[in-house]
Formats: sequence, structure tokens, C-alpha cells
Amino acid sequence: MPLFVKNPDGTRGMARRQCTGEYKIKPLKKAIRQILGYPHPTRVPRGVFVDQAIGISTDEFHRAKDSDVNYTRNIFPLLDLGLSRSDCLTLLRERGMGTVVKSSCIGCPYSGSSRLRFIRDTDPHAWTDLVEFDKAIRHGSPRANANGQPLRGQFFVHRSLQPLDQVDLDATRGTANAEEDDPDGCSPFSCRSGSPIPTA
Ligand code: SF4
Repeated sequence: MPLFVKNPDGTRGMARRQCTGEYKIKPLKKAIRQILGYPHPTRVPRGVFVDQAIGISTDEFHRAKDSDVNYTRNIFPLLDLGLSRSDCLTLLRERGMGTVVKSSCIGCPYSGSSRLRFIRDTDPHAWTDLVEFDKAIRHGSPRANANGQPLRGQFFVHRSLQPLDQVDLDATRGTANAEEDDPDGCSPFSCRSGSPIPTA
């Protein structure tokens, strides 16, 4: 997954990512083929497909894309209903379901402080996991280290290059600071990083 790298000279970089392709698209395609009864490498006959509902709202209609395989047809119920993100939040509030943040992996480094605060304040278990994850990645992959390919620098989840449990997530509350904002949510076919999605 993408992570912030503190280089030996103190500069900040970003590690190469394959998260959406590896952890979302590949497992989804595998599961769909199994559901249809045509696991890889069996060819799925033309005309056999599933509908895959993707929750893209009218604010981000440009992210709605056709599937790249014949056995999946992407459908967009929120676009069909003409619902924006704020309409969805209103519906949730009206039904007593509180509020939500934009969808993404818990440890996504593209998360702004606002989203990290939401996890910290509403889901202590996930927050503990995330802090542990942030500590565990500091020196890169144990396998790569054992193979003589140690990370030159340190990995961090937060763009400030500080251990997550030492970041003052409240410092930017209510400001337009770059650390505060969350980008668009992330779904398998509209990754929040904006980069091309490797699907091999
Ligand atoms: S939310 Fe998207 S960009 Fe972020 S780690 Fe998950 S798959 Fe990657």
C-alpha cells in the first residue's frame, strides 16, 4: 500500500502502491468468478455476468466507469437516484445512523486528520490496530530486510512523518490545512490516490 517514506536525508517520499489492485480488484474478480461458477482460468461465457453496485454519488459522477471485464456490469444506484453526498448524509441522519466519513481502508495514508480523528474517537479497537500497524511498518518489510533489501528510511502512515500516536490530530481541526482534508473516498474502481490502478 502507499506509505509515506522519510528518506535518510529527511525528505518525504511516497512508496509505490498496488493496494487497490492487489487487495480489492483481484479478490473481487476471484469471488465473482467463483459465484458465477467459472473460476480462473475457465472462460466465462458471453452473457453471463453479475451486477456490481458501486456507491458513487452525484458529486463524483466522473469516477463512474464501466467494468473492464464482460462478467461484471457496474451499476451506480446513487447516480440513478440522483443522490449527492450531502443527500446521503441527510438520509443517514434522518434514520438515526449518525454520520460517516468517506470510504477507504483504515490505514490509508491519503487519510486526512479529520478522518483519523473519526477513527480515534468512534472506534477505539480500529485505532489501536492502526497505531500498531504504523509502528510495525516503520522499518519496512521483514521479508525484504531478511533478503538483504532493507528500507533506506522509515515508513509512516501520517504525512507529518511522525508516529501516529504522537501526531496532534486536533491541531488542524476546522482549518483548510492540507493535513486536515480527506480526498474522495476509495472504491475498487475509483482509487482515491488518483493513480492508474494496477490490476494484473
Ligand atoms: S483507501 Fe484506496 S488508496 Fe488508500 S490504502 Fe486503501 S486501496 Fe489504497
